[in-house]
Amino acid sequence: MSFNLVMIGPPGAGKGTQADRVCRAYGIPKISTGDILREAVHDGTSLGRQVKETIATGSLVSDEIMIGVVRERLGRPDARRGFILDGFPRTVTQAKALDEMIDGRGPIIAIVMSVPEPELVRRLGVRRVCADCGTTYGGPGSVTESSGAGRCTRCGGLLVQRDDDNIDVIRQRLRVFTEATEPLVRYYEGRPTFASINGLQPPDKVTADLRAHIETALAMSRAGGRAEA
Ligand code: ADP
Ligand code: ZN
Repeated sequence: MSFNLVMIGPPGAGKGTQADRVCRAYGIPKISTGDILREAVHDGTSLGRQVKETIATGSLVSDEIMIGVVRERLGRPDARRGFILDGFPRTVTQAKALDEMIDGRGPIIAIVMSVPEPELVRRLGVRRVCADCGTTYGGPGSVTESSGAGRCTRCGGLLVQRDDDNIDVIRQRLRVFTEATEPLVRYYEGRPTFASINGLQPPDKVTADLRAHIETALAMSRAGGRAEA
C-alpha cells in the first residue's frame, strides 16, 4: 500500500535524518523542500534568486511559491507510490493545499518530532554540512558524526556551517516554527494516523518508533479504509 508521510518538527529535531532512513526502508522518495531550495540557490535558478534572501534571514518562503514547488515534485512518476515530505507543509495553508493535491492517493501519516529548545540550539550550533554533496554531520551522539578531519567521509568535500545555522538565524527559525508551524499539529492531531515522537531519544529508537507508528497507521488504513477521512 502506498503511503504519504509528513514529518513535522522544529529545525534540529532530526527530521531529515529520520526521513532518509524511512525512505530507504520503504523505497519511496524523500522530498525535502529545504534541500530543493538550497539546490536552487546553489544553481542560481530563478527560484533560487527569489528565495535566497528569505532563507538567509530564517523566514518562510511564501505559501504560493512552496505549493508550486511541491505540486510539481509530487507530479513526477517516482512519487506516485508514496513519498516522505520533510519540511512541507509548514503552514496550515500549505497543509490544506497538500490535502487537495493528494486527494485519492492514500492517507497522510503526519508525525511530529519534539525536542526541547535548548537541545535544538545545541544541535544546530554543532551541525556541519558537506559543501559538495550536502551530507549532514552532527556532534557527538548524532547519527553521522564527523570524523573530526573537517572532510566529508562520502566524497571528501569540505564540511561547512550552513549559512542559516548561526545563532541569530537559528532563534528566528525557532520563532517561526512556534508561530507558523505548531498550528499544523492542531490541524493533524485529530486524525487517527497522527503521532508525536520523542526526538530526544537515541536515533535508532526514534527510527523504531517511527516505523512502528507507520505500520500501525497502514494497518489501520487497510482495515478501515474510511477511518482517516
Ligand atoms: P530547517 O533546518 O529549519 O528545518 P529546512 O532545511 O527545512 O530547515 O529549510 C530551510 C529554509 O527553507 C527555511 O528556513 C525556509 O526559509 C525555507 N523553507 C523550506 N521549506 C519551506 C516551506 N514549506 N515553507 C516555507 N519556507 C520553507
Ligand atoms: Zn560530501
